Amino acid sequence: MAEGKKYLYGPVPSRRLGLSLGVDFVPFKICTLDCIYCQLGRTTQKTTERAEYVPPEAILAELREALAQGLKADFITIGGSGEPTLNSGLGELIDGIKKITDIPVALLTNGTLFYRPDVRADCAKADVVLPSLDAGDKRTFEEINHPHEDIVIENLISGLCVFRNEYAGQIWLEVFFIEGINTDAGQIAKIKDAIEKIQPDKVQLNTAVRPTTETGIKRLNPEKLQSIAEQLGGKCEVVADFSPGRCGKHIESKAESVLSMLKRRPCSLNDICSGLGIHSNEALKYINHFQQQGVVNSSERDGIVFFNALS
Ligand code: SF4
Repeated sequence: MAEGKKYLYGPVPSRRLGLSLGVDFVPFKICTLDCIYCQLGRTTQKTTERAEYVPPEAILAELREALAQGLKADFITIGGSGEPTLNSGLGELIDGIKKITDIPVALLTNGTLFYRPDVRADCAKADVVLPSLDAGDKRTFEEINHPHEDIVIENLISGLCVFRNEYAGQIWLEVFFIEGINTDAGQIAKIKDAIEKIQPDKVQLNTAVRPTTETGIKRLNPEKLQSIAEQLGGKCEVVADFSPGRCGKHIESKAESVLSMLKRRPCSLNDICSGLGIHSNEALKYINHFQQQGVVNSSERDGIVFFNALS
């Protein structure tokens, strides 16, 4: 559906959003953070400056084309190879999408710019907003998220609280847990306190099930994640892993192309994306799926992660 498109990818199966058409709204890798668990690699431009990094009209042109070809998706999901609220055309993009389709719009964001009224006004146009919060205090925030010097966790939390009061749509807050970093009782109590202030509609717990930027990031086992969900309270859920089986033959055949490439030789994420002409976020979905099935593993050489298929 989004073959040959520069800014759209998928639709791909998403653990949180069903069948999701991805919109890449910031180029690699412009972000306010440089999270140790990021799947995309290191942030190359750490900034808080909003600019039109990708023109909304270029995305809308691709979307019109995909709709004319019969696009079916549960969500159009604005994300990117970095932080999408950094794009100053966000409000214009969502307004434009709403004019041409009824497919709901989801926004993936790290939430760090919600202290700004212009960012909140743009985000309020989406149907579902999915921000992140991985720490309950400055020290852990800096350890996990490596923020830009202008970003402080107090503003992240208070910005989301103000947004909650202004916004009638759904807020699904993701908390990413890393074994040994934000899993002690004190940290969980602080995260719980922040959640009670933010009042999201859902809290979705995640851990390092996909390849991460830094090696040595320890995932939690399902039992521990479930136990934290119980400690955090009723709105929490552990986000389930995607299953390609429910998403149709088109996606299965692309996943198979990734696997057959990895059977021939070990490949980096870049090799896969350029070899198959697919977006990195899409390639990561397939790799993640195969890693969970135990048919693909990864190793690092000279700072680059390579994937290979196990015979
Ligand atoms: S906020 Fe998202 S894109 Fe930015 S570094 Fe963290 S995980 Fe990566």
